[in-house]
Amino acid sequence: MSNISKEIKELVQYGIHHKLLKKEDIDYAINKLCDLLSVDNFNDYDISNTEVSDEPSKLLKPLLIHASEQGLIKPNTISKQDIFEAKIMDIIIPRPSELNKEFNNFKNTLDATNYYYNLSQKSNYIKTSRTSKNIIWKSPTKYGVLDMTINLSKPEKDPRDIIAAGKKTTGTYPKCLLCKENVGYNGKTTNIGRTNHRIVPVEINNEQFYLQYSPYVYYNEHCIVLKKEHVPMNVTIDTFQRLFDFVDQFPHYFLGSNAGLPIVGGSILSHEHYQGGKHKFPIEDAKVLSSFTIEDVIFNQLYWPLSVIRLESNNKEKIIKYGDKLFKFWENYTLKDAGVFAYTENTPHNAITPIARKNGNTYYLDMTLRNNLTSKEFPLGIFHPHPENHHIKKENIGLIEVMGLAVLPARLDTELEAIKKAIINDSKLPKELLIHAEWLTYLKQIYKGENITNFINNQVAIKFMNCIENSGVFKQTEVGIEHFNTFMEELQNALTL
Ligand SMILES: [Zn+2]
Repeated sequence: MSNISKEIKELVQYGIHHKLLKKEDIDYAINKLCDLLSVDNFNDYDISNTEVSDEPSKLLKPLLIHASEQGLIKPNTISKQDIFEAKIMDIIIPRPSELNKEFNNFKNTLDATNYYYNLSQKSNYIKTSRTSKNIIWKSPTKYGVLDMTINLSKPEKDPRDIIAAGKKTTGTYPKCLLCKENVGYNGKTTNIGRTNHRIVPVEINNEQFYLQYSPYVYYNEHCIVLKKEHVPMNVTIDTFQRLFDFVDQFPHYFLGSNAGLPIVGGSILSHEHYQGGKHKFPIEDAKVLSSFTIEDVIFNQLYWPLSVIRLESNNKEKIIKYGDKLFKFWENYTLKDAGVFAYTENTPHNAITPIARKNGNTYYLDMTLRNNLTSKEFPLGIFHPHPENHHIKKENIGLIEVMGLAVLPARLDTELEAIKKAIINDSKLPKELLIHAEWLTYLKQIYKGENITNFINNQVAIKFMNCIENSGVFKQTEVGIEHFNTFMEELQNALTL
């Protein structure tokens, strides 16, 4: 039988143990929890001999069952449970000002982010019980080893939530999912529980930004740096200044920006933000095809599915200056033979996905050339995953994937199992999976009886590689490399004028 008082006490004990809650706030927290959970008769159990859990979801489960039984979660969907769960956790974690003070008390930013990342997990804002279910593997390709993930941690939308969302008035408050006003927000209009959400103010390039982690952590310490104001994404010289000011302050993190144009940009273009984190991406090991140096900046042309120029320098001002010059050069660059047009009428099509890192005293800036032209044949984008690859991925290729980490849709988890079975049993796919039929025919031809999981994983990686190759403006073919070389020569000439 459940014992709600004991369960509340265990959660409070968890908060104390993981330094989320201070001892002098115990009674206060218990009373707030009793209020939220409609508990009238609290029994103060002695739980000093109970082992403290590391995993908040175990402690939250019985509390959520109690809340559902009391009719406190309506309708009883996963997202409404998440919203309620966030309210529970909010009671035992620091207020934003307390977190901010703690964060700034650390002598270095490495300790500060360690503390904050741990808090984001222990507060169940990052649901490790879900993110640990993500499927992760590495596969070799001609460009090097790629990082592959199938992300299962974003909850599927329940039809009842969609109906509820349809009734609300949009564009009210907060303006978007990234806005700073999501801190502590109960999710009324967004339907996402953010009561336990915390952000930390950081000043970059003398402007106010906030640091937070992504609740879906696509890689280690996946963070988001968002602007105080709800203003649209835009890549300018400020972007390069901000990226390098950030990696100076947080040298253990990279920071990159999605392009400022649709199709080649990220999923949220309405709010200026960057993504960073502590992870070594496959692109870092990409081979260099050629390079030239101007002032103290080396320009490396990379062998990579997308067209990337890596700037490298010990001089921060110079790398920013030349990053901006390269960006402006690309914005106006047309190469008809490669199908690259900077403008059609007055609409710009060239954009950049810039990613900054620092290693010791050396700064790196990976500049990925993007173009968002569409055509009759490719209505979703010429330099975008092509239709024959949509059965694996059809979403925009953002900066994470530019760096060689695939974020694949959750549906593939079950779909790939069905494909494996169809290969092993030489059978057909069920009707709803016919989007994979052509691929299956091909896979059956090349399958030689090896370990089926490895086989499929490597084939999915090749599909992903094709998706990002589709997104490259200069292809890594003989002709494509020639075009890329032409670009590099013209760039060098323009920069040395
Ligand atoms: Zn916003």
